Amino acid sequence: MTANELDADVLIAGGGPCGLVLAIELGRRGIRTALFNDKAGTTPHPAAGASQARTMEHYRRLGFVKRVRAAGLPPDYPTDVAYFTRFLGRELSRFRLPGSAEAQKQARSLSGSWSVAELPHRCAQMYIERILRDEAEQLRSVVLHFSSRVHSFIEHADHVEVDVVTPSGSVEKRRAKYLVGAEGARSVIRKQLDISYVGERNTDRPFLAGQMYSTYFRSAEVYDMIPHPRAWQYWAINMERRGMMLAVDGKGGFVYMTQLRPGEDPATLSDEVIKRLLYSAVGKPFALEILARSPWTAGLMLVAERFQQGRVFLGGDSVHLFTPTGGLGYNTAVEDAVNLGWKLAGTVNGWGGPALLDSYEQERKPVALRNTNYARGFAESIGRFTVPPAIEEDSEAGEEARRFAGEYLLNHARAEFNIPGVTLGARYDGSPLIVPDGTQPPPDSANVYEPSACPGGRAPHAWLADGRSLYDALNFEFTLLQLGPSAHPDPILEAARKAGVPLTLLSLETENLRGLYQADLVLVRPDQIVCWRGDTAPADSDALIAAVTGNTRSN
Ligand SMILES: Cc1cc2nc3c(=O)[nH]c(=O)nc-3n(C[C@H](O)[C@H](O)[C@H](O)COP(=O)(O)OP(=O)(O)OC[C@H]3O[C@@H](n4cnc5c(N)ncnc54)[C@H](O)[C@@H]3O)c2cc1C
Repeated sequence: MTANELDADVLIAGGGPCGLVLAIELGRRGIRTALFNDKAGTTPHPAAGASQARTMEHYRRLGFVKRVRAAGLPPDYPTDVAYFTRFLGRELSRFRLPGSAEAQKQARSLSGSWSVAELPHRCAQMYIERILRDEAEQLRSVVLHFSSRVHSFIEHADHVEVDVVTPSGSVEKRRAKYLVGAEGARSVIRKQLDISYVGERNTDRPFLAGQMYSTYFRSAEVYDMIPHPRAWQYWAINMERRGMMLAVDGKGGFVYMTQLRPGEDPATLSDEVIKRLLYSAVGKPFALEILARSPWTAGLMLVAERFQQGRVFLGGDSVHLFTPTGGLGYNTAVEDAVNLGWKLAGTVNGWGGPALLDSYEQERKPVALRNTNYARGFAESIGRFTVPPAIEEDSEAGEEARRFAGEYLLNHARAEFNIPGVTLGARYDGSPLIVPDGTQPPPDSANVYEPSACPGGRAPHAWLADGRSLYDALNFEFTLLQLGPSAHPDPILEAARKAGVPLTLLSLETENLRGLYQADLVLVRPDQIVCWRGDTAPADSDALIAAVTGNTRSN
């Protein structure tokens, strides 16, 4: 089928974070992209509350990080995680985290584990999706179709044909070279491919397992009532019921989430019952307006058996489901899109070889398994915490219970909310696109990230002498970093030119960068992953370029 007979190069089902970021990655590269989302708009529910540092670095690479940083809580609003008996009761402990303005400043001076261009940003997914939709809409090669549901598909030798239910209810056929299912947990594409989730779903844990319920509400009274400094997450820890309230906009918008008990049916919960749950967490009745509510399941640690089949790919929640501890579901979905975007574009543009698209699953499935496992560990830590019965008593036993709980919860918060290793340390070792150099990658650890240019990991970040982030200086596609005066980059540049691979040389000869990267030449992929390094061009630069673009297997 010729390009003119196709509706698009890539068709995306689902306009959540995964689908929208993928549309932006493709649109930035001029790839004809059609996205279909069943609902009329982006999520009305705040949903995920945090963009991790790596996600923010990708938003910076894509050019709209300032819009994201400005969204959500006011710039000086602290993003503390605070634990209380009830919100009007006693404070047990508090893990302090900076507001967005302070985070921007801190990123410039931090080193070691937090050597970043961007620190995490605590902002509701609801706001971020609006920005993503707007950014995608501005790209000329991208067309977004909301109120349009993907029903099913047929794969042909050279294209995929998709049945779409249009806003009028009619079914239309759309054709594209590739189809990506980013339609979340109920993915019809994953089901049609007969791909199952594998992992844990029936966790037996006292808290953060089973039927959870989230309520998005607005109340002008909450901040005036609570006698404690403001926080981003307010946890109520008592014997009656545990819950967490998340500040959404710093102006009275909150999400409250708690676990339902056996017999509490999410389908029949009245507003009055939900209000009573909230009054219990706060410690007294107050005026509020419920804006949205949604049941969800905690305790899941599920990863799909496969992420791709033929011309069809799956990303985001359609291939992995998390318990939201660590805030990894949305962030892992974004990184799937980042990984797949340049590979689809390289294939459509003709320079990507057969191993390029195959590497998507090879690279992303291990990360999904790793991240769901980290999230499970955090959920175990908070979910198995036993609340001491005396926690609300005015007695010595009560004091002791609160001291014990406060200490435990602070240690837990340090582990769950300070995770540079999880967000920056994911690696693609063993991928056919990564050319190993015989060095060992740093150990994988949730709370420690060791910057390393060992091929397979994130290119270590540095601030340049002119104040720019190194990432701002990198090419949008491949970059060859020249960090030493005697390095000889020409054979690699020539090999890329012959193969039609977009590669730019960036010469930055500083002791600092040479020390950080431990090589004179470093090849960085479009997703800012180091795929090769050496002190001079390899004997066969054509083979190097072939390997990193999936035209041969390097190991
Ligand atoms: C209450 C709640 C709290 C959460 N908290 C966190 C958190 O703190 N941290 C975190 O990281 N994650 C959290 N998550 C999870 C996070 O929201 C998801 O991991 C994330 O949205 C996944 O993005 P996605 O693009 O893969 O899928 P989705 O966001 O599910 O997007 C899929 C889109 O596809 C659309 N769609 C579905 N079927 C079709 C179809 N057939 N055709 C076309 N479109 C279709 C859907 O309407 C939706 O817009 C939370 C989720 C919920 C519900």
